Amino acid sequence: MSAAPIKVTVLGSGTSMGVPSLACNCPVCTSKDPHDNRLRPSLLLSRNGQNVVIDTTPDFRQQALRAGLDRLDAILLTHAHADHILGFDDIRPFNIRQKSSLPVYSTEETFRVLRRAFAYVFDDAPTLSTIPSVDLHVVNGPFELLGTPIIPVPLLHGDLEVLGFRFGRCHHRGVAFRPRRILARSRAGDRGRCGARQCVRHAQEVVEGGLTNPVTRGTDPVPAHPAPPPRTPWKDAFSLPGPVLALTSSRRFLHGDTQ
Ligand SMILES: [Zn+2]
Ligand SMILES: [Zn+2]
Repeated sequence: MSAAPIKVTVLGSGTSMGVPSLACNCPVCTSKDPHDNRLRPSLLLSRNGQNVVIDTTPDFRQQALRAGLDRLDAILLTHAHADHILGFDDIRPFNIRQKSSLPVYSTEETFRVLRRAFAYVFDDAPTLSTIPSVDLHVVNGPFELLGTPIIPVPLLHGDLEVLGFRFGRCHHRGVAFRPRRILARSRAGDRGRCGARQCVRHAQEVVEGGLTNPVTRGTDPVPAHPAPPPRTPWKDAFSLPGPVLALTSSRRFLHGDTQ
């Protein structure tokens, strides 16, 4: 099973408000380039007919429809900001179709917010409505999905500690993950047509949020995303060779500016 490559689909690469954002007349939000049109940030990992999503954004339903997602096997949550969890209720069709609950992996802090935001899912109150069915797994170290180790990588997102997820292997170490190409690459699943798709397919690490040292130091266009200090028990994950893919996005640079 583990021989097949993991297919990575960028379901969304926009800011928390999406791009274009509402009521904004900036050059990016009014751009005619379809690549300046981005849903909220999420990844789909697929292997051997199994699918894992990283984050359930407010656009999750639209993203799943666009990707033709007909099965879901697990959910990874980087953190509980609204743009990463508010599509959570839309996992219900997968519960119904698969006749099972879905495992969700994240931190206790993320689950604390999730339980509050979706209290009806967790309050055990009788209901005639359809509600998501999940099993929450607090991540304390590496775990396995899709036949491959998933290594949690704590990162700082503003003053919030969030989780990145490292997985897979890279056979193309020559892939250049230069910061100014990250934006172009991040749109691959949004309809990639440059070499970005290849880079995504062979990414060794995928770290959500544009948070990693190698990618963002001194170049991150999102001020809320400072490079993290080496403070984590899994910090060695950063020291391994190979490229890093960070999903980031901008309302500051046109797609064409990031080529
Ligand atoms: Zn704008
Ligand atoms: Zn956030």
